[in-house]
Amino acid sequence: MDTLATRYEQVLERKTQAAQRAGRNPADITLVAVTKTWPAETIMAAYDVGMRHFGENRAEELAEKRPFVTPHIAPPDAITWHLIGPLQSRKTSLAAAHADVFHALDRLKIATRLAQQVGDLQRRLPLFLEVNVSGEMSKSGFAAHNWEKDATQQEKLRTIVRTVMEMPHIQLVGLMTMAPWDVPEEEIRAVFRRTRALAGWLETAVPHLSLPYLSMGMTDDFEIAIAEGATHIRVGRAIFGDRET
Ligand SMILES: *Cc1c(COP(=O)(O)O)cnc(C)c1O
Repeated sequence: MDTLATRYEQVLERKTQAAQRAGRNPADITLVAVTKTWPAETIMAAYDVGMRHFGENRAEELAEKRPFVTPHIAPPDAITWHLIGPLQSRKTSLAAAHADVFHALDRLKIATRLAQQVGDLQRRLPLFLEVNVSGEMSKSGFAAHNWEKDATQQEKLRTIVRTVMEMPHIQLVGLMTMAPWDVPEEEIRAVFRRTRALAGWLETAVPHLSLPYLSMGMTDDFEIAIAEGATHIRVGRAIFGDRET
């Protein structure tokens, strides 16, 4: 039987191997353990075997679990809580209060609300801009499926980035993307590669912008993402097993 500890070790080993194949330092890649749908007890068990970065995709779920787990860990900030799924505007206050990092900014309205609410709480929030590079309709994120050629798309992305950069209390730190499922590996790889290239282009197109982080790669594709420059991988099933929902 696979224990949680064994699975975690296996994922860490795969991450290390993928980093070494790419000539990268494994320590430069943060493994975010995705605990959505799993109870707070699972997070505490995961903490006990060494995990320190946890990802939830719904703000309500994060707001429920974090206060439950925090009293059991020392120091209380030993865990970094990542909100990895898109936010609805009526949920931004939950994210402002409970997320340490937000991976899925996909509308300016959300950024405006977060900047206000994070400031009111005297917190700060690093965030990733989610970009839809694959062009799949089902994916959220700012449109970037043709960013290399489409001047309008370029201008929009540049404006979005500039606008977010000027907001107080939130800090744009990178791009996040999701690859399509059930497509050939080369297509997945291309999405990650193009996301990295987009971050590079934005850094040259927007003065004073630095986008050091790339959040990309999940259970089925994190090794490809690492080869293409991911600094944050978001892995659920490979660590915790299949979710029921
Ligand atoms: C669920 C989820 C993941 C993790 O997916 P797995 O296939 O379980 O590794 C990563 N990112 C986001 C945004 C998710 O919602």
